[in-house]
Amino acid sequence: MCCSIIGYSSYGKDASSVLVQGLKRMEYRGYDSVGVATLDNSSHKETTTSGSIMIRKGIGKVSEVNKSANLDKMPGRIGIGHTRWATEGKITNANAHPHASSTEQIVIVHNGIINNFEEIKNELIEDGYTFKSETDSEVIANLLQKNYLQTKNIKESMMQTVARLQGEYAFVAMFDDGTLAAARWRKPLILGVGNEDIFLSSDVLGFIEYTDNAIYVENGNMVIAKNDAASFEILDFDGNTVKHTITKVSKEFGDAYKGEYANYTLKEIYEQHDTITRAGTSTEPEIKKVARMIMDAKDSIYITGSGSSYNAALVAKHFLSKDAKIRVETIMASEMQFASDVITKDSILIAISQSGESGDVLNAIRVAKEAGCGKIISIVNVMTSAIVHESDISISMDCGPEIGVAATKSFTAQLVTFYKIILEIINEKNTIQSLEQYSESNADTQKDSQTTNSNVTKNISNYILQTLEDPTNIQMVANNLKEVSDIYILGRGVHYPIAAESALKIKELTYIHAEGIAGGELKHGPLALIDTSVYVMIINPNDHTYEETITTAREIKARGAKI
Ligand code: GLU
Repeated sequence: MCCSIIGYSSYGKDASSVLVQGLKRMEYRGYDSVGVATLDNSSHKETTTSGSIMIRKGIGKVSEVNKSANLDKMPGRIGIGHTRWATEGKITNANAHPHASSTEQIVIVHNGIINNFEEIKNELIEDGYTFKSETDSEVIANLLQKNYLQTKNIKESMMQTVARLQGEYAFVAMFDDGTLAAARWRKPLILGVGNEDIFLSSDVLGFIEYTDNAIYVENGNMVIAKNDAASFEILDFDGNTVKHTITKVSKEFGDAYKGEYANYTLKEIYEQHDTITRAGTSTEPEIKKVARMIMDAKDSIYITGSGSSYNAALVAKHFLSKDAKIRVETIMASEMQFASDVITKDSILIAISQSGESGDVLNAIRVAKEAGCGKIISIVNVMTSAIVHESDISISMDCGPEIGVAATKSFTAQLVTFYKIILEIINEKNTIQSLEQYSESNADTQKDSQTTNSNVTKNISNYILQTLEDPTNIQMVANNLKEVSDIYILGRGVHYPIAAESALKIKELTYIHAEGIAGGELKHGPLALIDTSVYVMIINPNDHTYEETITTAREIKARGAKI
């Protein structure tokens, strides 16, 4: 879950409806409150004098707040908008963004957390600045205001402000002269460049309807866009101009519409029969190179990710050791800072992230690099993302934009890309073996496993189609489970990370407490919770874990839980 920011400056069009539309498109990112600010006498392009800033905000969904507060009917051709995911301060109207400076000359929207906000806030209060919210974000508005009053220069005031802020942020500030200024530090910020307008957004979905020209603002850079909406500058935090490249994004996001499906998650679940056959196909040479790098590793190999990507890492670890006989460690991205002492220049880090922008994963890469890590490999879905930029080599999940908040097709695409890497390693090993032994039969094995690659993904693709073709059973199970308060999901071997992933999905989408448990661990504690009120799902396909899992199922049944 994370919030969205958006800024819009147009030569002649009203900003508020465009902002609200952009926020709706980014709703998948998750949020609790919404707000928009516009510069209200900037309706005509000829207006050059300072305007007054109008702010409307509220708690709830974009459409609800829009209904009660008419967010999309605010005057002005320049504005900013926000959906908040509260991190500092309760979910209240006052804490919703945008936040204005004390003098109301500057208004900001912020995604992220300012770690040192209390210190800055106390200083500003001593200087006479007032605060209306409990958020960390409000300090950005007042700090900018203070620096702007001192320097009378927007660029200087931005430089001084970002120099003080610690934590993570992407923010857009609107000055009452109509300038939009934005900065990015470990949170996404994308500049959309239209013919007569520009966008500053957390995601290309914020502006994809209007322009397919995107500039992925790099970490540690800022953007200053003048009132005329035609000129903008990209600068580093020291104020030096930075060169930029425009990326065409329309093709990449062509299928970001939910069509006949009730929601994006459902659409994305149904896309899997297609996406698993596509996964990794645009980066086949990289898959070969990565397989080679893993085989040639002189020191430990680590895989990192967060949430579903971490569960994918656990599955990868299982197959790498079982089938490719390669030992890897998994480290949760958020734990890397406490686990990096063992990393050396010969270590390899494989980082997984759907968006390629995940803050924790980016941070893990940074920590690993600081520890001297020699090679960063990434597996991502967005090849223009910050993580790709930080990597030596990247593999694409090729599953198209994932809009739904829960990872679905990206998770299975991650598994398939790993599967392809592992198969490549096995093929390589077989080749080496067969060369060594001059053995015809081993060469056949190699051929067999190469054909297996596409056969297996095709088979899985068909099974997915079959499973989803008739959702009656799925709906029946869902109906039984919808009122329960706890669900335990059990699996052994590789089915344990799948159980963990299932539990994550249930929590994230249904708000029901769910826990993934490794089958054999049940008796070491969790069994105490199993009684007649509990629901247990058991993942038990017909493989080498089957018999033991049946035994576990019996223990559960004996305690009266529903399986
Ligand atoms: N830390 C800010 C707040 O709690 C911004 C959170 C967000 O990214 O939405 O308001």
